[in-house]
Amino acid sequence: MRAPLRSRIFKIISEEAELNNVRAFVIGGYVRDFLLKRPSTDVDIVVEGSGLELAENVAKKLSVGVTQFKKFGTAMFRYRGMDIEFVGARKESYTSDSRKPAVENGTLEDDQKRRDFTINALAFSLQKEDYGSLIDPFGGLDDLRDKIIKTPLDPRKTFTDDPLRMIRAIRFATQLQFTIHRDSFASIKQHADRLHIVSQERITAELQKIMASEKPSLGFYLLEESGLLQKILPELSALKGAETMEGKGHKENFSHTMEVLDNVAKESNNLWLRWAALLHDIGKPATKHFDKKTGWTFHGHDFVGSKMVPSVFRKLKLPLGEEMRYVRKLVKLHLRPIALVDEVSDSGVRRLLFDAGDTIDDLMLLCRADITSKNPATVRRHIGNFGRVSQRLIEVEEKDAIRNFQPPVSGEKIMETYGLPPCREVGLIKDYIKEAILDGKIGNNAEEALALMEERARELGISKPVDKDK
Ligand code: ATP
Ligand code: MG
Repeated sequence: MRAPLRSRIFKIISEEAELNNVRAFVIGGYVRDFLLKRPSTDVDIVVEGSGLELAENVAKKLSVGVTQFKKFGTAMFRYRGMDIEFVGARKESYTSDSRKPAVENGTLEDDQKRRDFTINALAFSLQKEDYGSLIDPFGGLDDLRDKIIKTPLDPRKTFTDDPLRMIRAIRFATQLQFTIHRDSFASIKQHADRLHIVSQERITAELQKIMASEKPSLGFYLLEESGLLQKILPELSALKGAETMEGKGHKENFSHTMEVLDNVAKESNNLWLRWAALLHDIGKPATKHFDKKTGWTFHGHDFVGSKMVPSVFRKLKLPLGEEMRYVRKLVKLHLRPIALVDEVSDSGVRRLLFDAGDTIDDLMLLCRADITSKNPATVRRHIGNFGRVSQRLIEVEEKDAIRNFQPPVSGEKIMETYGLPPCREVGLIKDYIKEAILDGKIGNNAEEALALMEERARELGISKPVDKDK
């Protein structure tokens, strides 16, 4: 093992702790990540005694300001890009109907017992006599080596004390690509119902970490298998299963969605694009239909799914502004590029460019990721078709510049020309010009647009005001 705690900051904390006559330790994520050789900038220091006092004294020495969270008994400061947080060692006991623990001062060992997993309970000593030695009462080092997520105590206790830990187990299993120990996983299945006492914000923070992982599907399969997904996002677990009628089956939409999600994650770190992949087919259960001739259909699932996005975001307490609108738009448009395959007309391509606007590249990435099949020949054929649409998209955009389309004749211009107040007719003329450009009847320029404006105004019986001075 490399020698840990070589940064100056740890030496200073160690010296101050000695002066304060308290024992201090680095604990949790930083220790785990150091042993895994993962970069980490969050350092948690646990103190047998007052965390606030030690934080103040170290900060004084470094001339940095401290933020105190008195309610939680924690204090933190930033130092050379690292967030250093201090807390007094605690001993906790929970009552069964609340996450709010009764907290008492405790020893390092008490504090390690209330940690969620053996790999998160590891500590390095900051005492002079055994500086940097690992304190590992629950076999966390072995579990790191064996890639196992396991609770330090009886899982029933760990998970009932704070049911969020069930999702954290899955989050760490996903981020680190570890396996959850059999007993711990059995206990998660048993206690899935207890999740309701946990706030949505805490659940969603863990979900976001699952989404940001290299292979997010790992987490969603575990959530599904444990019964937690049903509680968190039933719209997604409703995609499970494939029905058969008259010998015809349909695609298993949950595993399909997982494949699409991983495909997107391979190509992009954009969290919201990943959410669009996760939710792109949520309209399928509601639109599923069996037709004797054509078999299974999901007509309109793109539209129905997009309508479900705001309520999913609201329930999960995800942001309801730009991010939600972006996801809703991608879900709504996800079939459009492929729908063009049968007939790649310039007007179809222009309409897609107009509707997608700046999301077109992300939409194409999603659409490419959506091509999944067990049959490699089918995948090859679809990818070939998709490639043709992409090529056309580039050509049409170069030619017509529709992507950030601004109508060459504005509503103001129409009102000014005909002396009109804002009214229905102005909208009619404007739409007419837009449609003509998208259909390729006229070019995307002011000259042709103005001529068309005059033609349409005449048809509508609108004339220019007479200039009285003449
Ligand atoms: P990362 O910050 O990389 O997501 P981490 O392990 O630092 O991982 P945090 O949520 O920052 O995770 O928590 C820091 C430490 O606090 C954990 O390593 C763990 O020891 C402990 N911890 C956090 N949340 C809980 C919890 N709900 N129950 C028990 N211990 C927890
Ligand atoms: Mg952390």
